[in-house]
Amino acid sequence: MWATKDAATIVAIASGKGQAGVGVIRLSGTNAYAIALKMTAKKELRPRYAHYSNFLDQEGKTVDQGLVLFFPAPRSFTGEHVVELQGHGGGFILNELVSLALSYGAVLAKPGEFTERAFLNGKIDLLQAEAVCDLIQAQSQKQAQAATASLQGVYSEQMQAFQTQLEVIRIEVEAAIDFSEQDIPTQGRQALEMRIEQLTKDMQDFEQAVARGIRERQGLQVVLCGPPNVGKSSLLNYLTQNETAIVTDIPGTTRDLLHAEFAHNGHVFHITDTAGLRESDDVVEQVGVAKAKEAIIGADCVWFVHDLSLSSQANETSYLQGVDPEKVLMIGNKADLVATKQASGMDYHISAKSGLGVTALLDELCQKFFDDEERTTFSARARHLQHIQHAISHLKQAHSHQEQHWDLVAEDLRQAQQALACILGTYSSEHLLDAIFRTFCLGK
Ligand code: GDP
Repeated sequence: MWATKDAATIVAIASGKGQAGVGVIRLSGTNAYAIALKMTAKKELRPRYAHYSNFLDQEGKTVDQGLVLFFPAPRSFTGEHVVELQGHGGGFILNELVSLALSYGAVLAKPGEFTERAFLNGKIDLLQAEAVCDLIQAQSQKQAQAATASLQGVYSEQMQAFQTQLEVIRIEVEAAIDFSEQDIPTQGRQALEMRIEQLTKDMQDFEQAVARGIRERQGLQVVLCGPPNVGKSSLLNYLTQNETAIVTDIPGTTRDLLHAEFAHNGHVFHITDTAGLRESDDVVEQVGVAKAKEAIIGADCVWFVHDLSLSSQANETSYLQGVDPEKVLMIGNKADLVATKQASGMDYHISAKSGLGVTALLDELCQKFFDDEERTTFSARARHLQHIQHAISHLKQAHSHQEQHWDLVAEDLRQAQQALACILGTYSSEHLLDAIFRTFCLGK
């Protein structure tokens, strides 16, 4: 069982930056209650009750006034004593309150430290802790829904179910090792093999769901490329409803990569507009082209944009060499300038100016990449996928061991279990926890 790593009482501003009606500072740890009493000059605080109070400095002068709430351990977010002071939402005041707490012996919380303590005190597992971060960072409805599903334990429950099945099978296999003089009866052996096989299949299905969860969390990376002046920047601006990129009819206006985000049907798209790709002596343009090639390699989907109003299309596609053709779409732009839909070899006809055809293009991408069916998606990360794949390969290996090698089977099952334990955090290193929690915002 995890114990609290650091018993110090931590403090941080829990509300966002900038001016707001209300600002919150949060304390967690053994002395949170005592510090709150000093800051409010109250004799006691009722648990989970909103007290109105002055917040006082060391000389007894009022710094601010507002609400103070006390959540005694273990029924709090972190599992420790937690106090929230809700004052006026100005940076100066909130910093004053934090300084005051520090002067009474609290220490500044590291990013994500409240959530880390919740995890270390067994209030949530690692998947749920990561979901807290994902929910805060969500940029779209689907991302928020996915993070909420993870936070509510949808993902954890499935992982735990796999853990339990693995455990049961492993115990039976270990029992079989003791039998090994005459081996276990064929019937029993076949039943065990079938269960391992079924579990492998179920986990492979689940692997797909995890991949969807990662896609949802990360959004779709789209790169716009093509010759200069075909309307890439106009398209970026249309998609983001913004003047993100400068649009001119002078070829080669966009020299650096431009990034923007937008949501379609609740899914996040990250879009990168590349420099007009053409051979050039201009050093700045050459750097732009090199960056564009890099972006193309890393993209989920590449839109090669053409100008339909030109009689001959530029076919300079050398920089697409080595790129999976499956992820490249030929986009015919300026469809508003051509009278009829003549055969053009394009996957889509659109107009960045009028918006013609853009929704249909985005709808299809949502279908393809986000698997837009009504089923629960949870937010997932690359590290989960790695561990699941690791577990699956051990299960396959377990299945491949021939009769009587129950000790090898048991070892593979144990390794598979350990891989799943890494996901839930029942088996995790300090290094991993640091990598996860330090990406959180302060005060969470
Ligand atoms: P880029 O160099 O590929 O980024 O191209 P721009 O976005 O700078 O556009 C080049 C020119 O084409 C500008 O004058 C745009 O107004 C024009 N343009 C872009 N998209 C369309 C479109 O769909 N229809 C029409 N009629 N003009 C467009």
